[in-house]
Amino acid sequence: MVNKAEVLKEYFGYDSFRTGQEQVVDALLAGRDALAVMPTGAGKSLCFQVPALLLPGITLVVSPLISLMQDQVRELVESGVPAAYLNSALTDSQYAHALRNAAAGKYKIIYAAPERLLTDRFQAFVQQVQISLVAVDEAHCVSQWGQDFRPGYLQIIEFVAGLAERPAVAAFTATATEVVKKDIVRLLQLKDPCEVVTGFDRENLFYEVRRPHNKKNELLAVLSRFRDESGIVYCSTRKNVEDVCDFLNEQGYPAARYHAGLSQVERQKNQEDFLYDRVAVMVATNAFGMGIDKSNVRFVIHFNMPKDLESYYQEAGRAGRDGAPAQCILLYSGQDVRTNQFLIEHGNEDDTLDEAAREEVHKKDRERLRQMTFYSTTQHCLRHFILKYFGEKSPMFCNACGNCTAAAEEVDMTVDAQKILCC
Ligand code: ADP
Ligand code: MG
Repeated sequence: MVNKAEVLKEYFGYDSFRTGQEQVVDALLAGRDALAVMPTGAGKSLCFQVPALLLPGITLVVSPLISLMQDQVRELVESGVPAAYLNSALTDSQYAHALRNAAAGKYKIIYAAPERLLTDRFQAFVQQVQISLVAVDEAHCVSQWGQDFRPGYLQIIEFVAGLAERPAVAAFTATATEVVKKDIVRLLQLKDPCEVVTGFDRENLFYEVRRPHNKKNELLAVLSRFRDESGIVYCSTRKNVEDVCDFLNEQGYPAARYHAGLSQVERQKNQEDFLYDRVAVMVATNAFGMGIDKSNVRFVIHFNMPKDLESYYQEAGRAGRDGAPAQCILLYSGQDVRTNQFLIEHGNEDDTLDEAAREEVHKKDRERLRQMTFYSTTQHCLRHFILKYFGEKSPMFCNACGNCTAAAEEVDMTVDAQKILCC
């Protein structure tokens, strides 16, 4: 393979890059660091996978979830790319075997969890090979201001510093708030990174908030519009998942469930049933979905309001990855706010933080929850609200969200008249 276009076609079957991809690929091929902020489904993986096949050494991908690594590696291997993952899903002897293969140069792409990087065995391996690129996927996990802080991500920079030669480091995330972006650059010590931020607007997604008295009845009403179509219903707790999933099955909507309280075997089975369209609806906590690449998800319904817009945008964004119209519907109630408030005050405490730092985290959490609540209760354009939150300019009316269309029904007037009234 000589160039990026050939790699794109031969291995991935695509004729052209999507917005932003080529810029990142070029930077990495030139040995530069990069920070790519692109919405879910934009195609971040390709940005490091294409260079990986052209760079002389190995590309190491740091990834937070085993299921995510497995999915990507499976797809790569099916496409003829020599790739492997090194994580706790492997038995000890499988791990040793994979490491030997890796040291012998059999893989171009290796996925690993951040906690592996500084272990003796992994260190012994990396000293024997050339690492051309370290790609940090879901890079917001390095930031305490992100919604998925993962302390292991803080080890990445120590790992990079310990390499004989510093490779290019590239960070990928769908979280675009300014604090998180700055944290990523600082904590991963990106050097003059090529920054690529693509638009956050997903035009094919229709956003809507409903504030029903009875959420279950509302859920049925919404689902009746999506007979046999694939979709996800997110709930805030495991108990809600069980409850809603049972309810749907009783009502004749075959649904699978997914949360961290289930056995690994059941989670795997349910995920596959959903991915391969054996069951249309997945009822899940937010444990489901990171890195899930199912293209034909037609709706994402939030049975409970998530704790912040970052989470909401990411979860809702799993709808319509194929570009066809899809709906993102949030069922809101005041109780959701109280539940989230409780979780902020009494949720998982990070022992490494002192009192002042903890209060600072709570303060940020409360502010994010406040914004999420504003989104859930606003009468104005929902798309505009989201884009503004992520720092992007957009029209005051999208005419393709629940609030814009409801407003248009109430007051029958043209778009232009609406705009004038608004200003
Ligand atoms: P992200 O990590 O940004 O959420 P993925 O890397 O999982 O997104 O890619 C989402 C989907 O887009 C995948 O199915 C991928 O194959 C597809 N895709 C990526 N790049 C292209 C491209 N240039 N042309 C067509 N499809 C693409
Ligand atoms: Mg991804």
